[in-house]
Amino acid sequence: MKVGDRMKKHYDERETLFSRVRLEEGSSNSLDFYRKHPGYKTSDDAIRGMDFLDNLKKDTAFKSRFFPLFQQNETIIKQFYETLEAIPLADKQPIPEGFESNIKAIAGHYGACDAGIVRLKKTHYYSHRGFDERPPGESYGEKIEPRHKTAIVFLVRMDKDALMRAPHFEEIAESMNAYMNLAYTGMRLASYLKALGYDSTFQSEIHYLTPLVPLAVDGGLGEVGMTNHLVHPEYGNRVRIGAVMSDIDLQPDQPIDYGLELFCKRCALCLMNCPMQSISFKQRTLNGKRFYKLDEHSCFKLFKNAGTDCGVCIQSCPLSYEIDPKRLKAAKGNPEKIDTIIKDHLNKNGRRPKHQRPLPIVEE
Ligand code: SF4
Ligand code: SF4
Repeated sequence: MKVGDRMKKHYDERETLFSRVRLEEGSSNSLDFYRKHPGYKTSDDAIRGMDFLDNLKKDTAFKSRFFPLFQQNETIIKQFYETLEAIPLADKQPIPEGFESNIKAIAGHYGACDAGIVRLKKTHYYSHRGFDERPPGESYGEKIEPRHKTAIVFLVRMDKDALMRAPHFEEIAESMNAYMNLAYTGMRLASYLKALGYDSTFQSEIHYLTPLVPLAVDGGLGEVGMTNHLVHPEYGNRVRIGAVMSDIDLQPDQPIDYGLELFCKRCALCLMNCPMQSISFKQRTLNGKRFYKLDEHSCFKLFKNAGTDCGVCIQSCPLSYEIDPKRLKAAKGNPEKIDTIIKDHLNKNGRRPKHQRPLPIVEE
């Protein structure tokens, strides 16, 4: 697969689930959107609203003590954008050959567990803005004008102990922790590139310019698994994706194939463990590539009912438990070796982790 093959479709952020469910009933944006996309209306109405934390089965004292663990994310990330904006663009420094490995190591130094480089095409970007928690001056429906040459796409790892507790509170606390770490790493990397004279910005949970999974695939950071998430060869589903967009010109990476397609076919643990049966063996074709279908509505319904963002599929993935890279490499395309990896995983970790005590961050 060539770089950018996954990006022939030009995605519109307004069509993403998180944007659709934030549309206010009867608002002009909502009327306009559903006139153009009537197929989404009934199922979106059933899950509209972002109040899923209210449904957390915990008492008020617990909620008031522990929700603030991450409730300032949005405020802090807005400050990150202001900080970056305030950093002047220095005079441009020439970039030496091989700087790609420096920039990836610097992303690691700032907190990423892996990084890749993508030469941006127009279709990497969303065509239009979607949901509206964004810096001032940008609005819903605004056309996105691509302005940078390169994306440095990177991952942060999520804590295994927290994900063992999915779908309980620790899981959402860790998701939000990851979003904050992505924003922090992105802000520092973009600031660094500005100090070298290259206009740069970062993406975060309040400001997306591109769909991140295809960007991470093009940056060679993993493949898309049955969960529809990026699956990294070392950290599996247990990662979140961030990106810095910059004017710097760097040699791009290539997508990788470490044999996930066959691994998923032999495994299907995420599908078997999903409490909502949102994951399916059925496939769809997008930009000439086959992907497993995910019922995003039933998945989101669980977010609302559990009061967290679930994460059981992330927890279920054998690849989330750091399989020895040599062993994974040897298993590529080999059903027997894949089955042995899965069997060993089940013997050690079970199909789902047993009930665990709350982590000290929330232990009462
Ligand atoms: S987050 Fe939960 S409900 Fe959604 S697909 Fe994963 S396991 Fe299923
Ligand atoms: S749990 Fe198994 S089927 Fe699901 S993404 Fe991971 S490897 Fe693929």
